[in-house]
Amino acid sequence: MKRTHFLRPAAALMALLVLSLSAPLCISGCGGGGESTPSRTDLENTLKKGIKPNELGMVMVLEYHRIEEKEGDYTRSIENFKRDLETLYEKGYRLVKFRDLMSGRIDVPEGTTPVVFSFDDSTEGQFRYLKEGGKVVIDPDCAVGMMNAFYQKHKDFGYTGLFNFLPGLFDQPKYVEKKVDYLQENGFEFGNHTTNHPALGRVTDDVVKEEIAGPVEEMKNINPKVKMDILCLPHGSEPKSRQLMFEGSYDGTSYLNKWALLVGSNPFYPVYHYKNSGKVIPRIQVMDYDPEDGSGASGSGYWLRYFDKHPELRYLSDGNPETVCAPEYMEPRVLEKRLPNGVSFMGY
Ligand SMILES: [Zn+2]
Repeated sequence: MKRTHFLRPAAALMALLVLSLSAPLCISGCGGGGESTPSRTDLENTLKKGIKPNELGMVMVLEYHRIEEKEGDYTRSIENFKRDLETLYEKGYRLVKFRDLMSGRIDVPEGTTPVVFSFDDSTEGQFRYLKEGGKVVIDPDCAVGMMNAFYQKHKDFGYTGLFNFLPGLFDQPKYVEKKVDYLQENGFEFGNHTTNHPALGRVTDDVVKEEIAGPVEEMKNINPKVKMDILCLPHGSEPKSRQLMFEGSYDGTSYLNKWALLVGSNPFYPVYHYKNSGKVIPRIQVMDYDPEDGSGASGSGYWLRYFDKHPELRYLSDGNPETVCAPEYMEPRVLEKRLPNGVSFMGY
């Protein structure tokens, strides 16, 4: 009866059911069967290494716009993008899919912190194909190219990201399908950034529905396998009828979004934490912070420094996606009904 210690009877029964159903799929770290408690033993080993997991700590969804030669407003330079990858890796951040982060079953190595990359507006610098000889190759200086090169050197960093797209995805019309197929097959995600990028708070309900239904219809024609349930709010502006962010239909196309993404500007708590922001999720723009003049104070440079100074506030994994592991006193912060099936709190 392992891992049921903190569950209510109904949840325990459900956990047991899921455990017994999923047991044949377990390879390592999930410790199916027997009376032993491998996850508890794993945790003790983790603690012995000086790692103090805190899976109730805060996480970040980072936000990029253009990737170009020179740094500027809403533009990350190629050089700085490469530096971001190095910095995040060295500080122990690991890429995860947005949907995986929001599922509450977060799978990153022991002692690391999940982070999501999101890219808005689907500009060419994010994903460019080049002709080299007779072949079409990914530009090594576009975001996807740089991420791939980094991943080849550091497989444990991960290779994924969320592209919040506008029509004409990535500005190379002849490669639209090829790019979408590549991203879909390589574990990237897409978000709906509307058709015309209006501030949804300033348009009528009908226009809101039209703007959100557009990309759903567009993606159906490009690659129907792409899941469309994330809305990225242009300018972070919420419509007057908030429910329309999540559900609606226009001209025969209906949509269903699980989350709406904001533009700024802070980290947030995991989905099972009582302070979780729910369905409207904040993000953090990638920019440098200058403590001298305070510029970039809402961006990633600031928050990375903040977590360096307050490591106890940052999500730190125990390496086991089936447990939410944190100091014992934090247990009341867990909303049990938000825990995915088979996942339970483990305190120390
Ligand atoms: Zn945008």
